[in-house]
Amino acid sequence: MHWFLLILLLAGLYLLFNHNKWTYDWKCDHCNTIFEISWLTNRISPKRPPNMKLLRCPACHRISWAKEVKRIGNY
Ligand SMILES: [Zn+2]
Repeated sequence: MHWFLLILLLAGLYLLFNHNKWTYDWKCDHCNTIFEISWLTNRISPKRPPNMKLLRCPACHRISWAKEVKRIGNY
């Protein structure tokens, strides 16, 4: 069953890698608040090319097509 553990490990690393790659935030279309989303939200939210995503803003609680913005600083 070693192959199974290996696949689990690779899947975990894949998720971790993807999570770290998301170094951008989202800007609310209504109030211009810049906010982060979790990887799960990123997975389930509908996306519109090239860089829009349907998200609920944590500041004004309205759902809008938020625009992707590059995060300042890197980590
Ligand atoms: Zn807002």
